[in-house]
Amino acid sequence: MNPLKWKLHWQILIALVLSALTAFVIKSTGGLDGALGENVLGACGFLGKLFMNALKMIIVPLVGSSIISAMAGLTGGNDFRRMGFKTLAYYVCSGAVAVTIGLVLVNVISPGTVAPDVAARMEANAQAAGAGEIIESKVAGKSAQDIWDVFLRMFPENIIANASNNGQLLGLITFSVLFGFFISRLDKNWRDTQVNFWEGVSKVMISVTDLILKFAPIGVFALVTPRLVELGLDLVGPLAKFTLTVVLGLILHVVALCGVLAFFKVNPWTHLKKMSDPLLTAFSTASSAGTLPLTMETVEQEAKVSQRTASFTLPLGATVNMDGTALYECVVVIFVTQVMAVIDPSFIPLTLSQQIMVVILALTTSIGVAGVPSASIVAIFLIMGVLGIPTEYIGLVWVVDRALDMCRTSVNVFSDTCAAVIIGKTEGEPVYEP
Ligand code: ASP
Repeated sequence: MNPLKWKLHWQILIALVLSALTAFVIKSTGGLDGALGENVLGACGFLGKLFMNALKMIIVPLVGSSIISAMAGLTGGNDFRRMGFKTLAYYVCSGAVAVTIGLVLVNVISPGTVAPDVAARMEANAQAAGAGEIIESKVAGKSAQDIWDVFLRMFPENIIANASNNGQLLGLITFSVLFGFFISRLDKNWRDTQVNFWEGVSKVMISVTDLILKFAPIGVFALVTPRLVELGLDLVGPLAKFTLTVVLGLILHVVALCGVLAFFKVNPWTHLKKMSDPLLTAFSTASSAGTLPLTMETVEQEAKVSQRTASFTLPLGATVNMDGTALYECVVVIFVTQVMAVIDPSFIPLTLSQQIMVVILALTTSIGVAGVPSASIVAIFLIMGVLGIPTEYIGLVWVVDRALDMCRTSVNVFSDTCAAVIIGKTEGEPVYEP
């Protein structure tokens, strides 16, 4: 009965429960300004940063070595083309389903059509939270992320800085794919030496990942407790319908993905259970890039997807496949225009063609969103700018953004894992076979 020997997801769940209890105690004993609040949150700040840094530290060597060794082992260009095509097809289709779900729900539920006094309260809450400044500071210095920008990010000046600081993995992926591909073209002697070397590095990195993940429950506690203390439930009230719309959309998308899993003869329930470690970690860190080491390890070890498929689909997925984010972007933009129509009766709600524009922009910008917390705010900023909606209105959703970020990041990661097992299955791998 040694809790340290329990499965990781149980340990993380216990950490989440402890974190809720701690947040409750802090709130009832003086909140952020009380001595307890200050001490506990100070320690959480340190431990949370330590955990996130450790995860970010391993992203470059882990992802780099596993893509290189997987690519180096490819026997011909056909393998690569086939897998690339399947992966991209999955990512485009799953993203399209996600935004469509968001679009339908936000129109049917219409969470932004609130009474004028509620709209006024929302505006006041946004200002009270200092949302304007926080969002400006997030967006400042980040260039607009349109589809062409993706090409620039495939070839950044510094792949390491981009991957570990900004969660932008595209440069690292491009470089590692090229590197591995040209290893596969070397003379046999050189090739064997290189393949052995990179496989060795990749194995060592898995052991380092294992070690860091032993500390996940502490990291999770440290990352989630401050979020729960900050969350003012009184401020969330008027946004309840919006929050529910997003959460319902995310749940429906997970159900749709489970349907796709079942279609490919993967038991969705088994998959959800086996993926609980990365899903809970994505929930706590709100970062799909930070969760990537654990996602890769779990998909390979629990689902028995080959290293080749996992290293190809997952790093790419953590960068470009953001179903939860795309759904969220779509709901936020339309929700904001609904509220604006209440606040300012001269504002004309979006037409159908403008809504379709939102869908297309949400899909394309979600590709450019980095796998780090609150990254989609930048994309929402861009969409609102394109549609001529005053960007400061994003502040309306700031109060609940972090909580919803945790939920949408889990969905982003879930969709990546579905891609990996489906593609593994279609490649004839022993997915979930004993
Ligand atoms: N936090 C999300 C992720 O890492 C991105 C976002 O929607 O803000 O996947």
